[in-house]
Amino acid sequence: MTDRYAVIGNPVAHSKSPLIHAAFAWQTDEDIAYEALLAPLDGFAASVRSFVAAGGRGLNVTVPFKLEAWQLADQRSARAEAAKAVNTLIVTPQGLTGDNTDGVGLVRDITANLGVTLAGKRLLLLGAGGAARGAILPLLDAWPAALLIANRTAEKAHALAAEFAPQSQGAALSAASFEELAGRQFDIVINATSASLNDAAPNLPVGIYASGALAYDMMYGKGLTPFLHAAQAGCAMLADGLGMLVEQAAESFFLWRGVRPQTAPVLAWLRSEQA
Ligand code: NDP
Repeated sequence: MTDRYAVIGNPVAHSKSPLIHAAFAWQTDEDIAYEALLAPLDGFAASVRSFVAAGGRGLNVTVPFKLEAWQLADQRSARAEAAKAVNTLIVTPQGLTGDNTDGVGLVRDITANLGVTLAGKRLLLLGAGGAARGAILPLLDAWPAALLIANRTAEKAHALAAEFAPQSQGAALSAASFEELAGRQFDIVINATSASLNDAAPNLPVGIYASGALAYDMMYGKGLTPFLHAAQAGCAMLADGLGMLVEQAAESFFLWRGVRPQTAPVLAWLRSEQA
């Protein structure tokens, strides 16, 4: 019998996840159906329960329900616990297991797809919301020399740095406001703010990009995001978050099916569709 999966969110119609998982299923010969499920803003838990009652085997969770999914899960992985957000629910005999594959998706996109090493590098993470929080532990696990979290509201960045200090594994973990970045340089700058959603870029000082640096935006879309548009003046290597999206999906697929799909052809296909 075909196993059912879905991405649940509000809004959700724009999601590329059904396309990505259909491609993974075709490639790996897994018998699954994957749909987009619109949940009412006040009806996330009820929507999940009825999907599971109807035989659903797993869900991806997107905006604005990642925190509610974390609360709903009966058990959670260590990375979901660190992120305080769940983007993957797995139906098990023990109930719902919550995991978070966003951070590992980001790290795989940077290291495997873009061929950029994180070990020993000076990283700047912009933002202190859910996406930034989910990225911190996977980034620290990749052994950077330093990770600086900067946020428009600097107190939130300081709180995150303090929370993750015990897990810094020797990396210099610190926090700052955007203004305090003046005079500093970084090898990799990751935009985890939602500024691009409002067609804006974080207000950063000039000169923060070291020679050969990578500017990475978790956002994606046709053409350059506002952050990447601003970065191109001082930075040669630019990447958007489409690869992260495909990589986090592959990790979810692996959690559900125990099979790891190839991401490169799916990413290349999505890029050609986007062009
Ligand atoms: P949140 O709403 O949790 O956090 C928003 C963050 O953006 C806050 O740190 C906020 O700062 C900052 N911010 C908002 N507007 C501006 C601005 N104009 N200038 C500077 N900073 C700003 O969002 P998420 O963490 O959930 O998502 C962040 C981004 O990551 C989104 O664009 C999302 O689409 C993307 N994402 C991509 C994924 C992928 O697979 N590619 C996966 C997950 C997320 P303050 O605290 O000061 O308000």
